[in-house]
Amino acid sequence: MTETREIHLKTRPVGTPTPDIFEMKTVRLPPPAAGEVQVRNTWMSLDPSMRGRMYEAKSYVPPFQIGEPLEGRAIGRVIASNDPALAVGDVVSSTCGWREAFNAPADALEKIEPGGLPDEAFLGVAGLTGLTAYVGLVHLAELKPGDVVFVSAASGAVGSTVCQIAKLLGNRVIGSAGGAAKTEFLLSELGVDAAIDYKAEPSLSKALRQAAPEGIDVYFDNVGGAHLEAALTCANTFARFALCGMISTYNLDAPAPGPKNIMLAVTKNITLRGYIILNYAHLKDEFQARMRDWYAAGRIRKIQTVSEGLDSAVDAFLGLFEGRNLGKTLVRL
Ligand code: NDP
Repeated sequence: MTETREIHLKTRPVGTPTPDIFEMKTVRLPPPAAGEVQVRNTWMSLDPSMRGRMYEAKSYVPPFQIGEPLEGRAIGRVIASNDPALAVGDVVSSTCGWREAFNAPADALEKIEPGGLPDEAFLGVAGLTGLTAYVGLVHLAELKPGDVVFVSAASGAVGSTVCQIAKLLGNRVIGSAGGAAKTEFLLSELGVDAAIDYKAEPSLSKALRQAAPEGIDVYFDNVGGAHLEAALTCANTFARFALCGMISTYNLDAPAPGPKNIMLAVTKNITLRGYIILNYAHLKDEFQARMRDWYAAGRIRKIQTVSEGLDSAVDAFLGLFEGRNLGKTLVRL
């Protein structure tokens, strides 16, 4: 028997989640059954979308269950195998985050071939986070060299990857993030052309107009709300918006009012493309080939905020909604 700890959902949050809705449990794992392996997690990902799964209603994935361990992407090593497809020592990716070890069918896991990338990059720039940035920007917003690109939550996991890809593909990039330290990071570390501290700006539209007097061609939306309204205001005719997420709305008790200037999407012929990355798995090989080249050439960096141990996971998750992270939020286990 292997002893492991896992974090369960105790109650559903109302509004912003608090630490008391989570519960640490110690459980014992039997040896893996036929067709199964036992995995010890080494890294787990924390994502804003986990908040959506705390609601009772089903969205595009089933809700978390009360009294059950939470789920999320994780990287781990096989420590016992009862299936010929995976050997002890193999590195695997799973959806069994929020726990130190687990048993799972071998065919539910993806074997990772690092190929020069560190393991945890498969939760960040080379994983679903990177794929989300790439698909939204390159395929859905149909990025062309010379576009003016506006990115919200630009210093976060998806946003920092979007900024880097848009820059290396030859575009002018304007990033928005909360606080002077983050805008400085965008300018000096990610090389964006202009940065907006949205927390210090009385009018986001005005700030965006100043940063992009020529207007924006592409908006990569991670935030919704005032950011989406500002992007609509400053968009050029035939602008393309990738609607990736709207974190400013996730903890609201009641639905937020829609953008009051949505009519501009009509008059400016704007394309609004919402998406869920799980529906774009067919682009993974193309993405990974390009990302491996960019990473090896030093053209993309992994930006990450790492906390240590399962005990730190709840606080790190809550930090996403306070903007405490830079880049990908990870727990090293
Ligand atoms: P991030 O690393 O970007 O972390 C979230 C960031 O959002 C924080 O760092 C914070 O930065 C910012 N933020 C938090 N609250 C607010 C607010 N009220 N207003 C403005 N900014 C806020 O997370 P991810 O990169 O993992 O996710 C970014 C977005 O992408 C999310 O909306 C997420 O749901 C979405 N997503 C969508 C996917 C899809 O398939 N469509 C897949 C993966 C992610 P700051 O300090 O700048 O405020």
